[in-house]
Amino acid sequence: MNEIIIGGGLAGVEAAWQILKRGGKVRLFEMKPKKFSPAHRSENLAELVCSNSLKAKSIENASGLLKEEMKLLGSLVMESAEKFAVPAGGALAVDRDKFSEYITGRLMAQPGFDLIKEEVTEIPKEGIVIIATGPLTSDAFAAELERMSGSARLYFYDAIAPVIYADSVNMQIAFRQSRYDKGGDDYINCPLSQEEYERFYNELIKAELVAFREFEEPKFFEGCLPIEEMARRGKETLCYGPMKPKGLLDPRTGREPFAAVQLRQENLSAELYGVVGFQTRLRYPEQERIFRMIPGLENAEFARLGSMHRNTYLNSPGLVAEDLSLKKDPRVFFAGQITGVEGYLESASCGIAAGIYAWFRAQGKPPPLLPNETTIGSLLHYVSAERRGEFVPMNANWGIFPPADPGVRKADRKKFMAERALAALRDYAGRLGT
Ligand SMILES: Cc1cc2nc3c(=O)[nH]c(=O)nc-3n(C[C@H](O)[C@H](O)[C@H](O)COP(=O)(O)OP(=O)(O)OC[C@H]3O[C@@H](n4cnc5c(N)ncnc54)[C@H](O)[C@@H]3O)c2cc1C
Repeated sequence: MNEIIIGGGLAGVEAAWQILKRGGKVRLFEMKPKKFSPAHRSENLAELVCSNSLKAKSIENASGLLKEEMKLLGSLVMESAEKFAVPAGGALAVDRDKFSEYITGRLMAQPGFDLIKEEVTEIPKEGIVIIATGPLTSDAFAAELERMSGSARLYFYDAIAPVIYADSVNMQIAFRQSRYDKGGDDYINCPLSQEEYERFYNELIKAELVAFREFEEPKFFEGCLPIEEMARRGKETLCYGPMKPKGLLDPRTGREPFAAVQLRQENLSAELYGVVGFQTRLRYPEQERIFRMIPGLENAEFARLGSMHRNTYLNSPGLVAEDLSLKKDPRVFFAGQITGVEGYLESASCGIAAGIYAWFRAQGKPPPLLPNETTIGSLLHYVSAERRGEFVPMNANWGIFPPADPGVRKADRKKFMAERALAALRDYAGRLGT
């Protein structure tokens, strides 16, 4: 029987490759070239819609580790990326046309592969299906996903606030407290005096912004305004919004600060904290410069920076199981950015996992879950685990991994986690016979 894949982007091609190399057959539906999303241009599969960089190579960077993991699992994307790499220092960048052409050619040469150039508007009623239609899923299919999942379960826009590694916050200045002491020490607060606030404000309102593309023309929701947009409404608007100091007492002065920034825990291991209400469209270097002006964040290390852009993705936790199948219909799998992972390689690696899992299900066997210690396993755990609070898309970063053993020195943690991940994945790949 043919497995059906919808969407021939980075996730779709990897899912197809995993099934084909196990002797399966794939019918891949791709709407290009009949219909292009507003960002896609090429007729080839696996198109890189923006930058040609696949980020860092070193395994002491979570993105570099992800690449090694993908190679261990026989990634077609990594095979092509290494063949068509262009010089980019410590990063892996590729010739985008050759990269996509090669992947398309490799798939087309497989006897079990059938490419159908059609838009899909309904989830097929039978067989194993992998949905990998990406951040710019066609409108008709997005409507179908909305019907399937419920409107509160499909988002069309990312409004992401920066996420910071907790151990980079200066706790000599920042303090733990919930507003009016309701909820214990759940929040980390960074207090600002009037002078500090004014300095921050003056830089914020003149900071450089990322331009929206035409198709991204924003319709801001009042509850989710970018911080710079709010600041432009008046000098003290932020002090009544995300920087409001009410109910907080700075232990250093015993008084309410003039303004305060709150950080809220993002993951169970408490290594990551999100900056509450700081969704932003500031350029990345501007975010680092300006947010480090906040007392307590002078040396903040960012696990991810804020962004606002069009992105169709499911509110996966509770809806999608850790094996990427729909809880209420386990023959339907999701892969790529539609699950809430974010980035080229994150999406591609999610496709690898979906391909393996779907193939096992097609054989009537339970899908063997990727170890949580790996980057891919951590990402899939992140998108599927039930949580308190909002679900925001996530890229590869150390904060989503299970913590290192307590005896490991801080300076050795990344190396430890990288080696632990590769050992766990070698064992997994061995069991799989990959
Ligand atoms: C404007 C923009 C810029 C980005 N820049 C970067 C960047 O610089 N770096 C980075 O790491 N990530 C970037 N991303 C994110 C990146 O695009 C994704 O992480 C990655 O491409 C997602 O892979 P995917 O396979 O999930 O989706 P895609 O690669 O988008 O593939 C989805 C495929 O499905 C097809 N499709 C959609 N709907 C249907 C349908 N109904 N029927 C059939 N086919 C369909 C599409 O034509 C497309 O080929 C950007 C995203 C956008 C939108």
